[in-house]
Amino acid sequence: MDYTKTVVITGASRGIGKATVEVFARQGYNVLINFNKSEKDAIALYESLKEKEFSVKLFKTDISKRTEVNAMIKFCVNEFGTIDVLVNNAGICQEKLFIDITDEDWDRMININLKSVFFCTQEVLKYMIPQKKGKIINISSIWGMVGASCEVHYSTAKAGVIGLTKALAKELGPSNIQVNCIAPGIIQTDMLSSYNQEQLNMLRENTPLMRLGSPIDIAMCTFFLASQHADFITGQIISPNGGFVI
Ligand code: NAP
Repeated sequence: MDYTKTVVITGASRGIGKATVEVFARQGYNVLINFNKSEKDAIALYESLKEKEFSVKLFKTDISKRTEVNAMIKFCVNEFGTIDVLVNNAGICQEKLFIDITDEDWDRMININLKSVFFCTQEVLKYMIPQKKGKIINISSIWGMVGASCEVHYSTAKAGVIGLTKALAKELGPSNIQVNCIAPGIIQTDMLSSYNQEQLNMLRENTPLMRLGSPIDIAMCTFFLASQHADFITGQIISPNGGFVI
């Protein structure tokens, strides 16, 4: 395979990030797989792709830490020569009444779900701006669009990702860098582990397409936004959600 394009995918050990890694690797990208805590899962993913001779590298980084992000992006450029696509996917969620959210909860949520996007994007732009080419895809959430009760800090961070996407798309357009956002609906990953079967059934019944999303639904959308077919799309929020939010 002719590996000429490179993608960095954050939070790629599990869920949506993992499916995204698999799609880009199969399509011939060099893929930098970022993980933080789930080392075993990340190594298993890396080894399964290496076995098939895909071009992948693994890097442990807490993306809420500037120095670690800087080291990851430098590693990627050293290994693959360039960065064409950044997928800001890593994230956490937490359900709590607004009045119970502590300062620590708030800072952790904003740092991992929003400040990390600032860090990762600034670090890759050091390479994308001089090459006058690049695609940045930020993973927000429907809750960043419409707000979720008992997830105010999560909704705030994800709304911030939408604002960042729109503003940065305007700033980077002249540099031929597209910045877009995906706002997934309810996707079956570990992030839903706090829901019981009854709650999942209710969510399914309230989805016009009568099913929950799977990580591949989001991965394919991300792949499209990274492709040449999306060269005239920037500053947009695309929401694969089965019709849950229209
Ligand atoms: P997930 O299965 O819980 O996976 C979360 C990923 O984020 C893991 O790979 C985790 O890596 C990584 N991560 C968390 N903190 C990190 C940190 N400090 N540094 C680096 N990586 C970190 O969740 P998911 O459903 O795939 O979520 C992916 C994205 O989609 C998130 O931004 C989420 O908010 C968004 N989203 C999900 C849904 C949904 O219904 N699932 C809906 C809308 C939006 P480690 O385990 O290695 O730490």
